[in-house]
Amino acid sequence: MDVSFILDSLNDAQREAVCSPAGSLLVLAGAGSGKTRVLTHRVAWVVQACGVSPLSILAVTFTNKAAQEMRGRIEHMLGYPMRGMWMGTFHSIAHRLLRAHWHEAGLEQGFQILDSDDQLRMIKRTLKELNLDEGYWPPKQIQWYINGHKEEGRRSKHVLDTIDTQQRELLRIYRAYEELCDRFALVDFSELLLRAFELIKNNEPLRVRYQQRFQHILVDEFQDTNAIQYEWLKLFAAAHKNIFIVGDDDQSIYGWRGARVENILQFEKDFPGTMVIRLEQNYRSTANILNIANAVIDQNQSRLGKNLWTHDEEGEPVRLYVAYNEIDEARFVVDRIQSWLDQGNLRSETAILYRSNAQSRVFEEVLLQAAIPYRVYGGLRFFERAEIKDALAYMRLVASRQDDPSFERIVNVPARGIGNRTLEQTRDYARVNQVSLWDAARALVHTKELSSRAISSLSLFLDLIEQLASLLEGKTLADQVEQTLHHSGLLAHFAKEKGEKAQTRVENLEELITAARNYDHDEEDGTDTLSAFLSHAALESGEGQAEEWEDCVQLMSLHSAKGLEFPLVFLTGLEEGLFPHQRSLQEPGRLEEERRLCYVGMTRAMKLLYISYAEVRHLYGRETYGSPSRFLGEIPDEMLVEVRSSGPGTRDRFSFANAREDNGGSVQLGKQVRHSSFGEGIVLSVEGRGEHTRVQVNFESVGNKWLVLAYANLEIL
Ligand code: ATP
Ligand code: MG
Repeated sequence: MDVSFILDSLNDAQREAVCSPAGSLLVLAGAGSGKTRVLTHRVAWVVQACGVSPLSILAVTFTNKAAQEMRGRIEHMLGYPMRGMWMGTFHSIAHRLLRAHWHEAGLEQGFQILDSDDQLRMIKRTLKELNLDEGYWPPKQIQWYINGHKEEGRRSKHVLDTIDTQQRELLRIYRAYEELCDRFALVDFSELLLRAFELIKNNEPLRVRYQQRFQHILVDEFQDTNAIQYEWLKLFAAAHKNIFIVGDDDQSIYGWRGARVENILQFEKDFPGTMVIRLEQNYRSTANILNIANAVIDQNQSRLGKNLWTHDEEGEPVRLYVAYNEIDEARFVVDRIQSWLDQGNLRSETAILYRSNAQSRVFEEVLLQAAIPYRVYGGLRFFERAEIKDALAYMRLVASRQDDPSFERIVNVPARGIGNRTLEQTRDYARVNQVSLWDAARALVHTKELSSRAISSLSLFLDLIEQLASLLEGKTLADQVEQTLHHSGLLAHFAKEKGEKAQTRVENLEELITAARNYDHDEEDGTDTLSAFLSHAALESGEGQAEEWEDCVQLMSLHSAKGLEFPLVFLTGLEEGLFPHQRSLQEPGRLEEERRLCYVGMTRAMKLLYISYAEVRHLYGRETYGSPSRFLGEIPDEMLVEVRSSGPGTRDRFSFANAREDNGGSVQLGKQVRHSSFGEGIVLSVEGRGEHTRVQVNFESVGNKWLVLAYANLEIL
């Protein structure tokens, strides 16, 4: 049978990987070098050339979308469906195993999956059963604790007992949570992985069966597997050791969520005799794009080290746009997209990438104005996010007490002791008397129908809204939003929770203040500003987002861009504190992870890459004068061409100027300087202009530090 068509479009190293004999194999290679392509071709190869049944294949991908795409590609290549092949994320595969063997896994047949929010609710319930105070035991923190243990493969019984009372109490909560989940047949995300792992590990007949069935195990994006996922793979591959993994240590971006890049090194130890193949040719990007990405990632200390080159032409230079604020940045981006479209290109060929989800809002607004369809991936659109809807619901209720959905939404958010029973009674009253929930609640607090506890918590809520209403009177829109966030307790509620997600919610809420500040309302249409803003928000959350099938511009966070590619990419918001993110600045390990994220972003671009930052940014409700990201400073000057706007008011015309401007001062690269507390050092880099100039100095005593020139009082030696 002719199988050459599978190998035709591969280079030598890729072909070697695809046709390698059975055994363990590691493809360690940089971005765009064809790792995912090798993986799909490998599947096609073993099926077509080696006669392996699709039933014997287990392939793990990072997202469900990637799994669908890969399956499609293989089927297209071979011309028939890959029935029986297991291809999906770790979670979906674990889910499948547990559905098939629920009994052996000690579950009930109808077990339900808890998503992250459901899990949090269960944790709160656990706390209640244990009579513990949520204020003292923040549920988010407990969620973090429980999932952390599960992802390392530890149940409560495996956690070592200590004399530390706090730790003991956490352990007690973990145990009670496990019992509660068991009682109600509930399985959270990390439980899926852990339970499927235990099932295969402890049940010998099943283990043997699956080890025999899955003769070929393949894993994409291996650098982002966590402990339990890796244990899983070892277990499945233990008998035949037929395991094919591809990954790139430079693209490990989930360390903060427990991923272990060390698994790559460990793999060679766990599977002695592993064949290692390195792919060095990048097929995705032009030389100019690749050079910039290489220059940045080269700054990382902990790397396995790779060479990446391309035969591709130099291509257009990578361009840097220095925006004077975030709106200018968005207008620039949309302007470039418009010219891209004018040249007959597709919208779906362009991606706007950002570090923080809150940044999407301004882009959404400008795209909407320009009537360009777009889609926000890996996260809800700004006005659809739960916390934003919560905040707006307060304002809606202030604007109209009859707004029942808003009443329902926030009556007990943040929790104020209004239980389901009280709500039921309120709904009943409203139904019977044909009044709004608000009016029903007001009536009920004056009757004896509710318990005195219910009356007091309900009155508290009613008073809160009335107070808020008088507080907002006569204020500007931005102040109204700000007052609402504080007075409702929403901001404080999310601020006291721990974890990445809660932090994002706080950022989004603060961003709502910026949205209000920039909201431009035409007074002449007769509505007041608040009502106009609220309908604007409602419309924005319903419309605008393109349909799944529609050709549209892609907006996504850098994390969700992993593995994808686009001809035209905008890498936005390169400011210190935003990217690299503030939270990563203190820890060198986290900073390197941010740099890898930057590398991931740059290497998504095929033909054109624009990088931008804003001198002033209104984000999270604050105005910040960001200095350019250190990542920009790591790109050699000659590799970046700066595109300048010819000034406010003439935004449509852009002129080209050469790379970075001089800071005008005498602090230059290589100069010896003295700082009053850090002592002597040498200037490593200088970036920014005027009052925003920052210098990186290598001090003899404390190592590298970034300083703002205007405040550092450096003495030049
Ligand atoms: P990432 O690290 O970003 O996940 P990757 O290593 O998985 O990247 P692929 O997505 O497989 O890279 O490939 C990048 C691009 O290069 C794709 O468009 C792919 O089709 C193309 N490509 C890879 N190998 C070849 C080849 N030998 N000939 C032509 N095109 C290739
Ligand atoms: Mg890939």
